[in-house]
Amino acid sequence: MAIRRSLIAGNWKMFGTRAEAEHLLSALKTRIGRPTDREVIIAPPFTLLETASRLLAGTSICLAAQNLHWEPQGAFTGEISGPMLKDVGCSHVILGHSERRQYCGETDEQVAQKVGAARRDGLIPIICVGETLAQREGGETTALISRQVRTALRQVQTNFSSLIIAYEPVWAIGTGKTATPAQAQEVHAAIRATLAELSDRATAEMVRILYGGSVKPDNVDGLMAEADIDGALVGGASLQAEAFARIIQFR
Ligand code: PEP
Repeated sequence: MAIRRSLIAGNWKMFGTRAEAEHLLSALKTRIGRPTDREVIIAPPFTLLETASRLLAGTSICLAAQNLHWEPQGAFTGEISGPMLKDVGCSHVILGHSERRQYCGETDEQVAQKVGAARRDGLIPIICVGETLAQREGGETTALISRQVRTALRQVQTNFSSLIIAYEPVWAIGTGKTATPAQAQEVHAAIRATLAELSDRATAEMVRILYGGSVKPDNVDGLMAEADIDGALVGGASLQAEAFARIIQFR
C-alpha cells in the first residue's frame, strides 16, 4: 500500500473580508505551527487570494482557488483563469463543487474542461464528486460517482497520481449530516477502483481521496481512520481557527 500524505483543505466558500482573513489566518498559523506529516490547503474567495498569498508566504500552507475558467484569457466577463490564479500564488484549485453544479449549472463536461485547463496551467485540481440524497436512496451512488470521476478525467492521460478527488455527498454539505466512516469508505474504495481502471492499481494507490460534508472536530478522527480516506475538504468548520486546527490535528 502506497503512503499517501494526509491532506486537509478548507473551503471558505463566499465568506470573508480582508480583515477577517487576516484574523483567521493569523489564529490558524499560531495554532497549527508547521505540520510535517500532513498538508494543509486554504481556498478563500477570489477577492482574498492576494491577501492570503501574502499572509501564507513562508508557511507550509498552500493556496487554492474555488473555481477557474478553462480559457487562459479572453472576453469572459466575470471569469478568472488558471494563469491568473498561478500569478496570485495558487497551487491548487477546487473544481466541480456541488454548489457550483447546483447553483451555476456546472456540468460534468465543463468540470472535465476545467480539469484539463488546471493541469495545462500547472494547478493541481481538487475534483469534487458526490450524490444527492435521492440518488443515494435510489441505489445510484456507485455508478454515478464512477461516471463523474470518469468524465472529469476525460482529458487526463498522464500523471494521475497528482490528482486529488474529494468525495462530497451533496446531502452532507453544510447540513450537519455526515456520512458514516463506513459509508464514506465504501465510496472512496469505489473511486480508487475507478482510478485503477483508468490508470493502474499502483497509480490509483497514490491518489489522495478526501471526504467532505460536515467534517467537524468530533467526527474527523473516525473518518480519517478509514483505509481510503486520505483527508478532508472542510467548509463551515474551516472558518473557525480552533475547529479547523483540531481537524488538521486529527488523531
Ligand atoms: C464544502 O463546502 O466542501 C463542505 C464540505 O462544506 P461543509 O464542511 O460545511 O459541509
